[in-house]
Amino acid sequence: MKALDELTFDNRFARLGDAFSTHVLPEPLDEPRLVVASKAAMALLDLDPAVAETPVFAELFGGHKLWAEAEPRAMVYSGHQFGGYTPQLGDGRGLLLGEVYNEAGEHWDLHLKGAGMTPYSRMGDGRAVLRSSIREFLASEALHALGIPTSRALCVIGSSTPVWREKQERGAMVLRLAHSHIRFGHFEYFYYTKKPEHQAELAEHVLNLHYPECREQPEPYLAMFREIVERNAEMIAKWQAYGFCHGVMNTDNMSILGITFDFGPFAFLDDFDAHFICNHSDHEGRYSFSNQVPIGQWNLSALAQALTPFISVDALKEALGLYLPLYQAHYLDLMRRRLGLTTAEEDDQTLVEGLLKLMQNSGVDYTLFFRRLGDESATLAVARLRDDFVDMAGFDAWAERYKARVARDGDYTQEQRRERMHAVNPLYILRNYLAQNAITAAESGDYSEVRRLHDVLTRPFEEQAGMEQYAQRPPDWGKHLEISCSS
Ligand code: AMP
Ligand code: MG
Repeated sequence: MKALDELTFDNRFARLGDAFSTHVLPEPLDEPRLVVASKAAMALLDLDPAVAETPVFAELFGGHKLWAEAEPRAMVYSGHQFGGYTPQLGDGRGLLLGEVYNEAGEHWDLHLKGAGMTPYSRMGDGRAVLRSSIREFLASEALHALGIPTSRALCVIGSSTPVWREKQERGAMVLRLAHSHIRFGHFEYFYYTKKPEHQAELAEHVLNLHYPECREQPEPYLAMFREIVERNAEMIAKWQAYGFCHGVMNTDNMSILGITFDFGPFAFLDDFDAHFICNHSDHEGRYSFSNQVPIGQWNLSALAQALTPFISVDALKEALGLYLPLYQAHYLDLMRRRLGLTTAEEDDQTLVEGLLKLMQNSGVDYTLFFRRLGDESATLAVARLRDDFVDMAGFDAWAERYKARVARDGDYTQEQRRERMHAVNPLYILRNYLAQNAITAAESGDYSEVRRLHDVLTRPFEEQAGMEQYAQRPPDWGKHLEISCSS
């Protein structure tokens, strides 16, 4: 276990130089205080969890202090936002503080979001508010607990600094951890600004640090792109299987590691709705729940375009062709498991689709349906769940098909079925209304709710005594919360 001043830095991205990032110091928050910390994320840096409670912790992650070895930098990138190209973006309110490596030899970027203005702030104030910082923190740690690749969050630091959004709010910072903060937009930036030598440096950096095994392949860059395609297909399959809606899948929010990244107006589905749009500003539904799958491919095509100086168009197209089949395979595999199936049959795809069609706008809670399906035998469970469906006859027909499929699947006890299904079907999910309750309390200075919710969500598959209220469907007020992009 390490104390805060014992971290070991190795700032490899910073060493790429000024063409890639700019040195900027964090702008401190007034009266920094700990809102919530993740022990599991602290463990990634070998940090003793007790240090979260010390004043120096809030000072470090509230922008007041810095390690001598840290090299805070704002990264430059660009990206396609809602389909249109924005030539220059960058860390407008976040800083890469430095790269730390732990005793296991893993490297982690420390990124402080809400750290003040940078050369890339454009019209923004460089700040993040408490509300959005809590949302990012909870989402990162909740997705991780569900087994969905994501950046991690170490802590949220609150403050008394006023920040203006639709109304006056308070500034906060979230300390994010990821093996890399390089986005599709980094490659796009050097491609569209026609800086092939920097683009090659960037590609070498990514290859060396994150895809060293691709060096063994005849075409390392192509192998790396293929790997990025595969990881994104798998990540998005997991989003779809668990009902996660990202909300702003711009290419500057897509990680070259295939991790969920840059949380804004995200949501987990309550009632199942394939057309759900969680981003209040997404008027056309470009990033609706079901569009995430084709948009994943669209984003990879934008990255492919930026890689044309290195890889032939035919090879890029072929690699892009892997996306949909891989997505389908991962998705179906997960959905089979969510249904309690251990074998694969040709028709499973239509079994899943049939269920989702019945769920659509039927008021069926997406998370609880699967959890309850595993509570009892297939026969008892479907008999109890049918009341939730508007089209009961339709559900009965599906249920007959499901029971027959379960019977063909194998011979196991209900105990085995429950255990297997509960291990993939969470009881607790980060519902918007739960986050909102925690935010409302935190905004009035009470951090106990955000800490409790975080704690519950770190073990989403495990029934936790006394936490029944976190497994409830949303109350009416909490069903269609509008989450604005302003954060
Ligand atoms: P996002 O929608 O958070 O992914 O941000 C898109 C771009 O806007 C990024 O370049 C951000 O750094 C920048 N940005 C967002 N909010 C702010 C802010 N309050 N101040 C400065 N830049 C911001
Ligand atoms: Mg972003």
